[in-house]
Amino acid sequence: MALRLDTEIQYLKGVGPKLGALFSRHGIKTVDDLLQNYPRAYEDRRAARNIASLKPDDLVSFKATVVQVSSYNMGKSSRRVYDITIRDATGQIHCKFFRTPYKGYFERFQNGKEVRVVGKVTDYRGRLEFHHPDLKDIEPEEEVTDALIPIYVENEGLSSAKIGKLIQSVFNQVKEWPVESLPLELVRKHQLLARPDAYYQIHHPEATGGNVYNEFKSHAHQRLIFEEFFWLELYLASKKAGLKAEKGFEFNNAEIKIQKLITSLPFKLTNAQLRAYDEIKKDLISGKPMNRLVQGDVGSGKTLVSFLSCLKAHESGFQTCLMAPTEILAEQHFRNAEKQLAPLGLNVGLLTGKTKAKDRKEIAEKLASGKIHFLIGTHALIEDWVQFQNLGLVIIDEQHRFGVAQRGILKNKGTSPHFLIMTATPIPRTLAMTVYGDLDVSIIDEMPVGRIPIQTRVINETKRPQALQFMVDHISRGRQAYFVYPLVEESEKIDLKNATEEFEKLKVQFPQIRFGLLHGKMKSAEKDAVMTEFREHKIDVLVSTTVIEVGVDVPNATIMVIEHSERFGLSQLHQLRGRVGRGEHKSFCILIMGYAVSQETKTRVEFMEKTNDGFKVAEFDLEIRGPGEFMGSKQSGLPGFKMANLVRDFETLKIARDAAFDILAKDPKLTKKENLLLREELLKSYGPTALAGVG
Ligand code: ADP
Ligand code: MG
Repeated sequence: MALRLDTEIQYLKGVGPKLGALFSRHGIKTVDDLLQNYPRAYEDRRAARNIASLKPDDLVSFKATVVQVSSYNMGKSSRRVYDITIRDATGQIHCKFFRTPYKGYFERFQNGKEVRVVGKVTDYRGRLEFHHPDLKDIEPEEEVTDALIPIYVENEGLSSAKIGKLIQSVFNQVKEWPVESLPLELVRKHQLLARPDAYYQIHHPEATGGNVYNEFKSHAHQRLIFEEFFWLELYLASKKAGLKAEKGFEFNNAEIKIQKLITSLPFKLTNAQLRAYDEIKKDLISGKPMNRLVQGDVGSGKTLVSFLSCLKAHESGFQTCLMAPTEILAEQHFRNAEKQLAPLGLNVGLLTGKTKAKDRKEIAEKLASGKIHFLIGTHALIEDWVQFQNLGLVIIDEQHRFGVAQRGILKNKGTSPHFLIMTATPIPRTLAMTVYGDLDVSIIDEMPVGRIPIQTRVINETKRPQALQFMVDHISRGRQAYFVYPLVEESEKIDLKNATEEFEKLKVQFPQIRFGLLHGKMKSAEKDAVMTEFREHKIDVLVSTTVIEVGVDVPNATIMVIEHSERFGLSQLHQLRGRVGRGEHKSFCILIMGYAVSQETKTRVEFMEKTNDGFKVAEFDLEIRGPGEFMGSKQSGLPGFKMANLVRDFETLKIARDAAFDILAKDPKLTKKENLLLREELLKSYGPTALAGVG
């Protein structure tokens, strides 16, 4: 039969139902899937080496003999490490595996077996080793020519060589390649290879291509990376255009109360705050609904910027609501608003799960009659009975806790109100562009003057007694501390300290100190009670899981101790660290690391000692852990790229983004002849909502 890209691969020569099912289990169903199963690296046979000549970070390939296969537990944990020792005429080296690639993997290796090792040399505590290299069987017909050989991710029963062979065979069998879906002008302008050519070259690299291929910089790579970004950006551009096409409120230019608030403050706004507010103001008076994200580190003063925006709504005759993710935070905002906005004549309301039925009725009436100007609350705000007289602005604090659906419900409480979203999770600019591609972004990248920087120290478990003593000293001087654990309950598999258990131990060890316990399994009333006691300094040390992550403000707390810090992402550590350093006393963050962490992990956590800048932390986190880990890909709504990488390929992302936005600006509905294929492809990938509202 004539092969097309959408043909199922079981119809390929030499495949059949059984192998087809095996591929299918790994997500490869059609010929196109197979072609898009890109090599994860290229083996440069000319760069073959021997063990004695290895240097850290070399990507190498050479033959060696297995001399030992062993496994042991890592430190005190129950994590198992597999170690395959290999040698050649010049020396020996360990190949370590911290997880099992697939069941039965290690049974493949016996002493004396010849393997080809392909991988990157790692420096682990001054010793060179391989971590998760490819250990391949020596193919009988292996040719030692000047070749660059694609390496595919291996799976049970699917060796790299087998996958490679099958892919080679496809090129002779496919009779019908799809026509170019990118506009020709774009292809010409950016000198993009045709897609079939790109496929071909990816799987048949030029022998002399070496590094260009391994760095994903070949023409073939660039074409495919460009395309992955382009489709996503085109979708985002269409969503954004849809939002922009709606009509929105045109706030007026009055700034009387705003100026009053600014002059009444005991401090000056930072330039970053002024810039963010300026950007917001432009949106608010534009007549189009604002959809703006304000990103700024913990303590950068986002609340105030949102209050200025609320005043703008008020002076234009509109109501505002602010939704916070927890009661504690909603109450905190309410107290601030009472202090800063009530004197200017604003009537502020608070609505949370705790609000009594009687008070709800009153709130409902005052909202409907316009007597409440600014309603602050939790999720309770999205309940049906909450109806405004004329809602003009919706502010959402800590965006990542709310889904898009909730944004939608709030939106329907007004006719296209303006949206201001605030997040204290600094997202690298590279990611923000894509994750928040449908939003405009303002960044507050400057801290108010006079803040005393937090000092961070990473220590080993063996130094815990000293860390505890340090904490006790500060408490005896009247300060407070947080003690954070990664999990509430002991997991069978992972040997982690348990907050509850440690809480009991600490109480016995330091009877003179008042400890409190906070964890996610507690009822919200219980949590509030503990938080209130901590705020009122009836508790010295709050032992907690990560529930304190968001927004709590206790300026007297100056010590943050985080156990098993290696289990957290850097951005999360940074969030936690932001709970201290809010008052007049110098603050400290102590990151305790478990036993037996790798050099890589150590380096990662130690980055926290180097900077207090959340954006730098986030960039670094992204670089090492990738965007999926960083945000949780589901939560972030990021598509899984097959080849593109937001960090490595950032330059290409910018080009693709500009190209996509440019096309959509000129042809919002993609109905011009040269864009018809784009339109079809976009609707096919993203569904009919892709172009909804555009026009
Ligand atoms: P976040 O950005 O984390 O929400 P907040 O808005 O809660 O930060 O501000 C933290 C603290 O800094 C508050 O007490 C606020 O009053 C204060 N603050 C805000 N802006 C400034 C400024 N420009 N100078 C000094 N202090 C400020
Ligand atoms: Mg805040």
